[in-house]
Amino acid sequence: MLQRIFLALLTLCFGIVANAQPAYFYPDAGNMNPAIPTPAAFLGYDIGTHHTRHDKLVEYFKELDRLSDRVSVQIIGETYEHRQQVAAIFTSTGNHTKLEEIQKAHLAGQVNGSTQSVPLVIHMGYNVHGNEPSSSEAALLTAYYLTASESDEAKKWLNEMVILMDPVINPDGRDRHTHWANMHKASPVVADPIDREHTEIWPGGRFNHYWFDLNRDWFLGTFPETRNRIRFFHQWRPYVQTDHHEMGSNASFYFDPGEDASNNPIVPDYLYKTIYPTYAKYFAAAADKIGSMYFTKEAYDKLYPGYGSSYINFYGGAGFLFEQASSRGHLQETTTIPISFAFTIRNQFIASLTTMRASLVEKDNLLKLRKEFYRMAKEQANKSAVKGYVFGDVNDETRTRAFVNMLLLHELEVYENENAVTIDGKKFDSKKTYYVPCDQDNYIMVRSVFEKQITYQDSSFYDASAWSLVHAYNLPYAELKSAMGKGKRLSSLSARMIVPVEKSNYTYVMEATDYNIHQAIHHLQKGGAIVQSAFRPFSATIKGAVKNFGYGSVVLPVNLQRISSDSLFRLVAEVNKLTGLVIYSLSTGFSSGGIDMGSGYVRTLKKPEVALIVGTGVSAPEAGEIWHLLDERLQMPITKLDLLNTNRADLSRYNTIIMVSGNYSLIDKNNSDKLKAWVQNGNTLITIKSGTEWAIRNGFTKEKLQPVDSSKGVPSRKDYDMAVHIEGAKGMGGSLFRVDLDTTHPLGFGFTDRKVSVYRNGLTFLQPSINPYSTIAQYTSDPLIGGYIHPTTLKRVRNSASILVGSEGSGRVILFTDNPNFRGTWYGTNKLFLNALFYGGSINVPSVAAE
Ligand SMILES: [Zn+2]
Repeated sequence: MLQRIFLALLTLCFGIVANAQPAYFYPDAGNMNPAIPTPAAFLGYDIGTHHTRHDKLVEYFKELDRLSDRVSVQIIGETYEHRQQVAAIFTSTGNHTKLEEIQKAHLAGQVNGSTQSVPLVIHMGYNVHGNEPSSSEAALLTAYYLTASESDEAKKWLNEMVILMDPVINPDGRDRHTHWANMHKASPVVADPIDREHTEIWPGGRFNHYWFDLNRDWFLGTFPETRNRIRFFHQWRPYVQTDHHEMGSNASFYFDPGEDASNNPIVPDYLYKTIYPTYAKYFAAAADKIGSMYFTKEAYDKLYPGYGSSYINFYGGAGFLFEQASSRGHLQETTTIPISFAFTIRNQFIASLTTMRASLVEKDNLLKLRKEFYRMAKEQANKSAVKGYVFGDVNDETRTRAFVNMLLLHELEVYENENAVTIDGKKFDSKKTYYVPCDQDNYIMVRSVFEKQITYQDSSFYDASAWSLVHAYNLPYAELKSAMGKGKRLSSLSARMIVPVEKSNYTYVMEATDYNIHQAIHHLQKGGAIVQSAFRPFSATIKGAVKNFGYGSVVLPVNLQRISSDSLFRLVAEVNKLTGLVIYSLSTGFSSGGIDMGSGYVRTLKKPEVALIVGTGVSAPEAGEIWHLLDERLQMPITKLDLLNTNRADLSRYNTIIMVSGNYSLIDKNNSDKLKAWVQNGNTLITIKSGTEWAIRNGFTKEKLQPVDSSKGVPSRKDYDMAVHIEGAKGMGGSLFRVDLDTTHPLGFGFTDRKVSVYRNGLTFLQPSINPYSTIAQYTSDPLIGGYIHPTTLKRVRNSASILVGSEGSGRVILFTDNPNFRGTWYGTNKLFLNALFYGGSINVPSVAAE
């Protein structure tokens, strides 16, 4: 009771604070232009008393644009859920009239840091994680302040800076959380942390529409929100970029510098040694002034180039991370006094104003940083033994083009490769492969994309320790010891050349090597075609030349279809245009080598009917990666089956069920038995990481997890304070490994090299199967390509199984140790997963006869 009275009193105080908005948020603001509505006046409630819907926020920015010459608002794109992406530009009326001129002068002076006389360009970014909402509310306050303030300081900022603002980086995720917080808000507000308002249901608001963490996407550019944002970034190349987050409710406030050992060694030290400590003094003074607690230096890395606070560091700017303890809701109890939404907003707002204040004063330092950055890039390029990279997979134009597009998004110089070259035994054809020289302004980003091992000081990583994208795409590439002649520089990729398909009265065939092969199979099956696959290679004579077709090539026999040959041709032509794949027409089933078209090794593929288990406990990003892959790249519908609905679902509708990482304790014995019976009945269960562990522990397969080495000697003793470092180092933040893939197995169809790069960021270890045909991919004895791994963990990885197929009844379980769809970017291992989906139903594990 006493506690309730206390809370009621506190709520009352909070109410008073909220109503006294100007005094709370802008105590020293001075005169404000009365023609500009405050956010509270526009929205009808005080900031901090309600969560602002994205559409209302967009309206407010448009209203500021309408009322003031200090603001211009652009819509740079929209999200999957049709929410607009706002980019606002704040600068003086005078600057607005010559904005293009300023932009030009700013960009022209980049490399030599000669933009002293040009207004300083900085960028403020808010709310990348949707359920960290304080910062977008702070963006409203900041926008109002910049538009309405009559203070000399604000006018000076606007005269001498161009302030870019992205008030909501993740609109879909933000609104998901906004509705949750508002719909559960009580009156008076309830601070009990377990109240529904403070405990969002799965998948939560952190992610975007496809449950993806956009704060990892700056490097990958998988999502339209990010691609639009990166284009805007490169139009302006700001000197400063902020990124505002929230953390646990019992924390305080974080600002840079971060953990020293996690600084990226290929970025100038000047950033870490001078810029961050200098800015920290401004942030500390501002927080001290309002009595806010904070910390620095203990956490948060800036290694990975894809955070909102790190991407800019790879272009000679300074990224600032802010982490505010979350009220997650309107008011929440903590170990001290309850934390209010308004309080969290105020810290983010003060940090925003302080960033502007500091940036203008420290302009010389920022220009120096940029100059130093380009000097260092040149020096690194000169010192490097590698002078360029040549890459490309002539068997997979889709994957190669996707990689090129990603390079162009980052404004890297990419050239057509004009010379057919063979390096380290790898052949790179002219015109079909590409060249990236090291001698270019953005060499630091080139290194980040191509280098497999950059040496870091720390081992307890917050996230990944390796991210070489050329490995993520599993592309053949070579390091060049001397620069080579440049072909045509690409500004964008021209449309893919389509080789039109000719009508066949016998059989159409296509190779399985291109990334789009599964999209092709899906569209053919959806269109009613019977699709077959060659489980052994063959060669055919086409227009007088012999053409080889590898394992898994797709075969469409014209006379075994339920649809007419004309309908089939129309469908095939459609697929040809959609996927860009070359589709060959054969007039005979007699192959010049290998199996003939009527062979028993040409097998009919079952159309996958797929359910993906989702819901409480399931890893939303891993599930989202699959949903996104099938939606966006294959246009293939799947059922998102909530694990609580498995009991009433008719599983016979599906022949393939996917279980990603997760805690599946909500699936009870009855449902687990139902699922097991479904597998035994001839269906395919695909599991990933801890989903794999769950399947093994619950008796879905005879395959085994690798036991932990228990042969320990005398228990060791260590100091308490060392635990975080020692144990952190044993984790698996994320590194690159090499596996050996059986390319004759349906899961390996379309791969032309047995060595495949995989990404491991988990601690699931599988024993190779006792059935010699069941271990489809296995870690090599020297598996590490790049990144950090603790020696004891490396021992466990060596020679362990990467992918197993267990034969269970008349069905099968396909067990993945690692996530083949990591962050929507692993085009290389995506193919393994899609093979499991499309060829899984055709896999029979050979039984082993006694010798
Ligand atoms: Zn965050």
